[in-house]
Order: sequence, then C-alpha cells, then structure tokens
Amino acid sequence: MNKATDNELRDLYRELILDHARSPRHFGRLEHATHAASGINPLCGDKLRLYLQVNAEDCIEDTSFEGSGCAISVASASLLTDTIIGQPVDKAEAWFTAITRRLTEVEPADFDDVNLEKLKALDGVREFPSRVKCATLAWHALHSALNHRDEPATTE
Ligand code: ZN
Repeated sequence: MNKATDNELRDLYRELILDHARSPRHFGRLEHATHAASGINPLCGDKLRLYLQVNAEDCIEDTSFEGSGCAISVASASLLTDTIIGQPVDKAEAWFTAITRRLTEVEPADFDDVNLEKLKALDGVREFPSRVKCATLAWHALHSALNHRDEPATTE
C-alpha cells in the first residue's frame, strides 16, 4: 500500500470514528433485554451499559447501549452494536477475542471475517495503550453480558 492510500484510509477511519461518536447507532435502553452488562474505564471516565436481546436460537436479535465517555469509547460501542446485531452469540464471543487481540498484540493477525473490516477504524489506538481501554470497553461489556456476569466490567 503506498503512502497516499495509507493516509486516505486513515482519514476515512477518522471520519468513521467521528461519525459514530457524534451520532451513535443503537443508543438508549433496550426494553426487552435478555442480557446486560456495564463497563467502566476509570482512567478515562468512560461508562456504558450494553443490552442484548438474545433469542431461542442464540442469535442476537437486538442490542443497544447507553452511557457517556470519550469519542473513542462511544464510537467503539456504536460500531460494536452495528457489528453484532443479527449475529449468533458464539460469533460475537469470537469477535470479542479477535478485536481485543488485534488492539493489544504486537503483531496482530488480520481479521478473518469481513464483518469486522469496519473495526479496523480503531487500529489507531494501538499506538496509545491508555486509549486501547476506551476502544475495548464495550467489547468487555459484551463478553460479561454473554457470560451472564452483570457486574461492571472494568478495564483495570
Ligand atoms: Zn475513553
């Protein structure tokens, strides 16, 4: 990939993050949630609560989140809801592992699922360990919710 394309991609990703931070998708409380969990990132002050409505076929029929935090944490939660809606629970759980690995490992593997392409918008945080917590907060909440641990997931 040449330099110009690389920069263009970075700008696109920045736009995507800002767009999701300004107008988060699936924002608000979910009335008929079957699963829920909170996430707290004390370092940055990010707080969110993630809701899931899982049907009898173990598919995530609906999801939403509420809370407040920095642009990265809100954008990441918004991207998460967009990504997991309509997906099987086991896939969402595998994606939790994939995204946390990608953002924390030195030489991350590429995503093996096209559904995750958009999440590369978060790659920029890899250079800033404190921001990784903002970006993974919603995913930790998802992991807790799916494992029926309704106690705050914390990044600490
Ligand atoms: Zn944050």
